[in-house]
Amino acid sequence: MQQERVEPASRSSNPARQAPRGSSLLRDSQAQFRAAAERLGLDPGLQRVLETPERELSVALPIEMDDGRIEVFQGYRVQHSRLRGPAKGGIRYHPSVDLDEVRGLAALMTWKCALLDLPYGGGKGGVNCDPSLLSAGELARLTRAYATALVPIIGSRIDVPAPDVNTDERVMAWLLDAVEQQTGMHDPAIVTGKPLALGGIPGRGEATGRGVALITLETLKRRGIAPEAARIAVQGFGKVGGQTVRTLAEAGCRIVAISDVSGGLYNPHGLDIARIITHTRNHPRGLLEGYPGEDADPIGPAELLTVDCDVVIPAALEGQITEANAGAITAQIIVEGANGPTTAEADRILADRGITVVPDILANAGGVVVSYFEWIQGLQGTRWTLDEVRSRLDRMMLDAYDAVLARAEAERVSLREAAYLLAVGRVAETAALRRTATK
Ligand code: NAD
Repeated sequence: MQQERVEPASRSSNPARQAPRGSSLLRDSQAQFRAAAERLGLDPGLQRVLETPERELSVALPIEMDDGRIEVFQGYRVQHSRLRGPAKGGIRYHPSVDLDEVRGLAALMTWKCALLDLPYGGGKGGVNCDPSLLSAGELARLTRAYATALVPIIGSRIDVPAPDVNTDERVMAWLLDAVEQQTGMHDPAIVTGKPLALGGIPGRGEATGRGVALITLETLKRRGIAPEAARIAVQGFGKVGGQTVRTLAEAGCRIVAISDVSGGLYNPHGLDIARIITHTRNHPRGLLEGYPGEDADPIGPAELLTVDCDVVIPAALEGQITEANAGAITAQIIVEGANGPTTAEADRILADRGITVVPDILANAGGVVVSYFEWIQGLQGTRWTLDEVRSRLDRMMLDAYDAVLARAEAERVSLREAAYLLAVGRVAETAALRRTATK
């Protein structure tokens, strides 16, 4: 590395940090944890153990850009807890990534994995960058540098990454290859969300959205609402939002609004999802931008959350439903496809208005459930079929939903509070057993 060529970060692919949302995500998830810990009567020492991240990596990644300049990107990996098993959680490439955002997302993974009773702790990683401004070569070099920095702290029994916002199976393939080149060992279970040809599992790509759709349909069923009668708005049309829309449309629901980073589309009679998917497939960056408007009105991404509908599914980024817009939401049901889309203040407003919120750690757990199947496949050298994946995923999601509903009813608390009580209780039990053993 020729240090004299290092230049200050000027191109927006390495942005001077977007307004941080991560600190509110961290604050809200900590508050949720503390409320559950207090209700469970956890010892204050144990509370401190469970809210403190076990290990954090912050690393500078110098990358040679295509034009020969050197840029330095900042990467993170936080292992919030490994009490119940290896840390598990995705890797995000986004201009908003900072240590607090990664800390908050890592803690959510601990509670999510515990809620689904997976043998995992929680972790998360990210690189502060705008991947839409990076070439494939730059993205590959950045991923390989990040993977090399992760080598000392990841492994199939230590910490197992997966895709998240702006990362996909191609990024996971680079990551796997870079790690295996460093270790000299073939170990497909080191990362999930891989391409099939590298030991991936059928159904991983659809898993999170399939789970979100399943939980949405189950919520409608319990309310006596037929899928055909439900008008649904989905924010985010990426891996999670896109699949959620596809599955709900197949089930007969009317998708009245969708949005992505480029804007939104609205039709109160239902959007033509097949036509929209064809448009995004042909768009160079997979966006809604430029969709011919004769069967849909353009709306802003923020407007999507308050359109007239029955269900809103935020499936983009955190901090979208806030005290500024919670009062204007018309839907009676919110299903959190994204992690942390609702701030604590908004949660209170929605509760006062009698709106049901199905929390992220339940609703979007389908991805980590199928990651778990992929991890088992990698450890055992076996192959699962798509039918096996789907039927076990659906069963585990519905069982977790039943448990959350039962706890909410028994303790007269919200679904989010019930989910945290179950999850924190499980991690606390493991922690207490480990502590007793060493006394
Ligand atoms: P993605 O990168 O595939 O898609 C993100 C989508 O959000 C894109 O359509 C993007 O255009 C859109 N978006 C970004 N900013 C927006 C804005 N301001 N308004 C409207 N749309 C906007 O990411 P993903 O994997 O689909 O993740 C989405 C959310 O789901 C994140 O919160 C992520 O942590 C969570 N999640 C993902 C998985 C997974 O398996 N990928 C699992 C659980 C939870």
